[in-house]
Amino acid sequence: MKSISVLGSTGSIGTQTLEIVDDFPDLFNVAALTAGRNLDLLIKQIQKYSPDLVAVADDSLLPDLKDRLNRLSKDQRPKSEPILLSGLDGLNEAASWKHTDLVVTGIVGCAGLMPTLSAIRAGKDIALANKETLIAAGPVVLPELKASGSRLLPADSEHSAIFQCLQGTPLAKNATLSTGVATPGLKAIQLTASGGAFRDWSLSEMKNVTVEKATSHPNWNMGKKITVDSATLMNKGLEVIEAHYLFGIDYDHIEIVIHPQSIIHSMIELSDSSVLAQMGWPDMKLPILYCMSWPERIKTNWRKLNLSEVGKLTFYKPDSSKYPCMELAYSAGRLGGTMPAVLNAANEEVVEQFLKERIHFLEIPKLIEKTCEAHKSDINSEPKLDDILLVDSWAREFVRTVI
Ligand code: NDP
Repeated sequence: MKSISVLGSTGSIGTQTLEIVDDFPDLFNVAALTAGRNLDLLIKQIQKYSPDLVAVADDSLLPDLKDRLNRLSKDQRPKSEPILLSGLDGLNEAASWKHTDLVVTGIVGCAGLMPTLSAIRAGKDIALANKETLIAAGPVVLPELKASGSRLLPADSEHSAIFQCLQGTPLAKNATLSTGVATPGLKAIQLTASGGAFRDWSLSEMKNVTVEKATSHPNWNMGKKITVDSATLMNKGLEVIEAHYLFGIDYDHIEIVIHPQSIIHSMIELSDSSVLAQMGWPDMKLPILYCMSWPERIKTNWRKLNLSEVGKLTFYKPDSSKYPCMELAYSAGRLGGTMPAVLNAANEEVVEQFLKERIHFLEIPKLIEKTCEAHKSDINSEPKLDDILLVDSWAREFVRTVI
């Protein structure tokens, strides 16, 4: 029985993780839950899973949470009373909770950074969905992983595919899992991308993008921020940086290929020229489950992949004039240091402004580029945590000022 802390339990990753717990009640239980603002769903989850500890990100919601739990009738109450916490301290406590074996990081954005670091410092195994943590703070996270022995298991479907393909390819001498040390046999990575909501739209048609259209993905059912990131292909750019830090591979050997069917979740090329791919229906439960069971495989009765039903698998090169965010991410990744943190924070802020309908979709890359340009002369190539947090706030403020 593995005990799981689910950070961001009310989101897309969080709820899918809890569905896996439902599917395998003899293998997993829930030790801790955290949420942002969705108390209605959080309370239902507390009733169902009886976690030891629960934290809400917003301090002002804690009294309401306590009150609503106290008002539950005897037969509606969870089996045991959870410890109730709030704010960053609460999230950190949930991430490092003593009874937790594995922490699933489903918080969206750089808000996941500090709780993920807490889990790392407590030596926990981590199912990393919250990619923004590694993108913003790779140079800080990797040494912390090495020092604590915590293992970072990729829950993002593309990185899970790479990770799965790498099983059986020996790691470098003295390398530990996911500490940015290249696998000697790994030559290149091909990240597949669905192409997002507008893959079949021309650049001129994209002038008509609305928030509603940008938040509906053709293949995956995800939170709003990552769905917009998929439509701009910033998500793929962020995944390039994530792959660089996770697998210790340089940017020249990470390629993006559009694969509209989302059946191949990514591919690796090995030094002998063999290419390995991992396939499955587009369903995040599989990569999350693999993090939860690794290195074992759990038998499921989930829908079997049937290639005759899929029919054809197609691939083409992404158009960088249509998707400038992709190149911005490569460029920030190559510059390194604090630049990926600036790119990430600018993107988070700009997407939020787009979702509030304060800017148009096509302004997203322009504002991110402007922010990165403004930071170019100030890049810190060996940032500490405080430097990352500082540039993160600076970039958000810069975007708001420009808008
Ligand atoms: P959602 O928006 O669906 O969920 C986000 C979760 O984070 C919610 O539980 C939300 O709480 C919580 N949250 C929001 N803001 C804060 C905050 N400031 N502090 C603490 N908690 C907060 O996002 P997704 O599940 O789609 O994505 C989560 C992460 O996983 C992202 O980093 C994304 O890139 C990554 N990912 C997601 C995939 C997917 O299929 N969804 C695929 C691959 C990666 P509440 O709702 O209660 O306010």
